[in-house]
Amino acid sequence: MKESLGTTGLILNEPLLWEKGKSGRCGISLPRHDVDPAPLDKDLTTEGPDLPDLSEVDVVRHYTRLSQWNFGVDSGMYPLGSCTMKYNPKINEKLANLKGFSGAHPLLPAHLSQGVLKLMFELEQFLAEITGMDAVTLQPAAGAHGELTGMMLIHAYHKKKGGHRSKIIVPDTAHGTNPASAALCGYRPVPVRSNEQGILSTGAVAELMDEDTAGIMVTNPNTLGLFEENIKKIAEIVHSKGGLVYCDGANMNAVMGIVSMGEIGVDVLHLNLHKTFSTPHGGGGPGSGPVCVRKHLIPFLPVPRIIEKNGAYALSSEFPESIGKLQAFYGNFGVMIKAYCYIRSMGPVNLRKASQLAVLNANYIKENLKKVFHLPYDRNCMHECVFSDKFQNAYKITTLDMVKRLMDYGFHPPTIYFPLVVSGAMMIEPTETESKETIDLFIDSLKAVANEAKENPDLLRQAPGRCKVTRLDEVSAARHPCLAG
Ligand SMILES: *Cc1c(COP(=O)(O)O)cnc(C)c1O
Repeated sequence: MKESLGTTGLILNEPLLWEKGKSGRCGISLPRHDVDPAPLDKDLTTEGPDLPDLSEVDVVRHYTRLSQWNFGVDSGMYPLGSCTMKYNPKINEKLANLKGFSGAHPLLPAHLSQGVLKLMFELEQFLAEITGMDAVTLQPAAGAHGELTGMMLIHAYHKKKGGHRSKIIVPDTAHGTNPASAALCGYRPVPVRSNEQGILSTGAVAELMDEDTAGIMVTNPNTLGLFEENIKKIAEIVHSKGGLVYCDGANMNAVMGIVSMGEIGVDVLHLNLHKTFSTPHGGGGPGSGPVCVRKHLIPFLPVPRIIEKNGAYALSSEFPESIGKLQAFYGNFGVMIKAYCYIRSMGPVNLRKASQLAVLNANYIKENLKKVFHLPYDRNCMHECVFSDKFQNAYKITTLDMVKRLMDYGFHPPTIYFPLVVSGAMMIEPTETESKETIDLFIDSLKAVANEAKENPDLLRQAPGRCKVTRLDEVSAARHPCLAG
């Protein structure tokens, strides 16, 4: 095996700034003063904040070293399933930083914000085209916020029809935010089990669907990385009882320009711009979770909406059936610019190719590792694959032990223990942006870990051994957090 990324290198220790500071040290040099010293305001001299005295080089090294303890897509492969940690081209950041965008103020009148409004208007159109839906709102700040928006749209639709429905069907493979969003909107989530192939069967949905059920919330491709093949029939069942189909589109990276969500019966869909459309994410935002709808839900979309008349753009709140406002101003605009740049620079052909490569890469990993790790659903996958720790349990080794050891090989761990339907799940999403060499190194590293599980299980139980910190006591970390650093 080639030398792995994490097996060499310098790990620099770094104290707190307070431990590093030395009284009298200063980060700037000022010329000798040529006026008589005057006393400072007394409050300023006696009650100043407790700041360390540091030189410029102290500060630069401190923060540079801390930044090197971090891991991100810019430092290595980040195969976190369901999160689509693809590489984000730097040109997007550059364009989002153009003065006209970064200096735009949301309170400027429409005639001074034409470029900004045009970009948002066009982005809505692109997203409608990519998903096969009719209209889009860019307001929601993240995927879960999009889900809540979608639930509110479904609620408004039923209310207008004069009916009150109390339940929503949610598969057992769903992301935890799905039942939470449904419940926040006042619906009772009713779980439906996926079948032995890891997808929903029409029978299971038909059994639960009734006229007190507002609809179904389905993730497609689902969180096992499998395409819900029965979606069209399921949509017919739900529609026949007056319900609507919500699709969690967080996994759109597998099907851009390939699946028309509108055509397969989806009424409302959210996207995660910070996953599929290449905006850096992690650490809590900012994100953007646009919601795409079919025609019958357009009147309920949040306000303000961007409208176009004779080439001029404006914001309008003249939509009396709207569910109202969901965000301060119009959403996280910086994220929208990056998604817009990404879509424009890729074009329709390359967006489709990105999805094809993402699917190819995941299947390549699945085929290469399925002898080493138990593969609960041995079928073609979409953009991610899910293994379990069943084989390694024989050596009393768990998924947690293995992914901790993977860090020693220089890779970020995949998503673990999700989805809940697979015990000891390891959910791997390579994305389209990793090269074959990197993916091969990742596969070799996981094979080496599987071998160590057999040959040297104690090593894994103590892993990671080569990282800045070794195995943490997670219970103490939660119960007695040390917030001082
Ligand atoms: C990420 C994700 C969400 C939630 O999106 P956020 O932007 O984190 O709120 C919902 N569903 C699925 C399947 C996801 O992967």
